[in-house]
Amino acid sequence: MTKATPLTNGLSVDIEDWFQVGAFENTIDPADWDALQHRVETNTDAVIALFAEAGVSATFFTLGWVAKRYPALIRRIVDAGHEVASHGWAHARVFTMSAEEFAADIDRAKKTLEDAGGQAVTGYRAPSFSIDQRTPFAHRILAEKGYVYSSSVAPLQHDHYGWPDAPRFAYRPLADAPLIEVPVTTVRMNNRNFAAGGGGFFRLFPYPVSRWAIQRVNQRDGQPAIFYFHPWEIDPDQPRVDNAPLKSRLRHYARLSAMADKLRKLTHEFSWDRMDELVAAMDVDQQEVTAKAAA
Ligand SMILES: [Zn+2]
Repeated sequence: MTKATPLTNGLSVDIEDWFQVGAFENTIDPADWDALQHRVETNTDAVIALFAEAGVSATFFTLGWVAKRYPALIRRIVDAGHEVASHGWAHARVFTMSAEEFAADIDRAKKTLEDAGGQAVTGYRAPSFSIDQRTPFAHRILAEKGYVYSSSVAPLQHDHYGWPDAPRFAYRPLADAPLIEVPVTTVRMNNRNFAAGGGGFFRLFPYPVSRWAIQRVNQRDGQPAIFYFHPWEIDPDQPRVDNAPLKSRLRHYARLSAMADKLRKLTHEFSWDRMDELVAAMDVDQQEVTAKAAA
């Protein structure tokens, strides 16, 4: 099948369970996580099957918490030809941690994922894209802990996250280390960056909107798109959290049943690869985020 554009894009999944998302952080106590119905293993197996249908390889940014409980799942991800990377230990956002806590968190996650998967873990995605102007220590510590790349910055203004001054495309945030930051995809219109790399954007809008956004980034910007979703997004039967705020519930549960078919279209219409492969082929400039970055 001829692809919509000739570029290869980065495909990623953030492996966490339905109760670990930011939307429910004030409603569900992490102390209760082990007692809740775990669906991450089944849903992640469904993601692996969906990728096999399309013949694509992807990066699975996985919580250390998940790897500790489901090490066999981590092996299956590796055996299917995908990259296992880190999503931190238990979904604490980086700006809620001190530098020391962050170092301990990513170290623990890396070791647990490597023990389970038997492969080096070189990539990191911050929970809820939480590397921003509040976390000046984050990229340095990732480099020190042996990470090669991070995909943790959302260069936009959003009610829960975002670093609008950050570059839109891959850059080296440190002058003296090769670490590469690969921000999640945005489209730029009217001097503003809009979320276009997956998550709620992909789920809530009709598929052609995402197709348009990826084509625009590939053709107009000449850059790969970085796309992400979550295993709970293909699970319409997950337990409902009735006491969460209405806005969180509307966002979390909207259009879950349409998701698998949209992902089939997406994985067939564009070329995709694992993030580590994409990063290895990049030639990236050093760039410090100071004031407003040039678009
Ligand atoms: Zn996450």
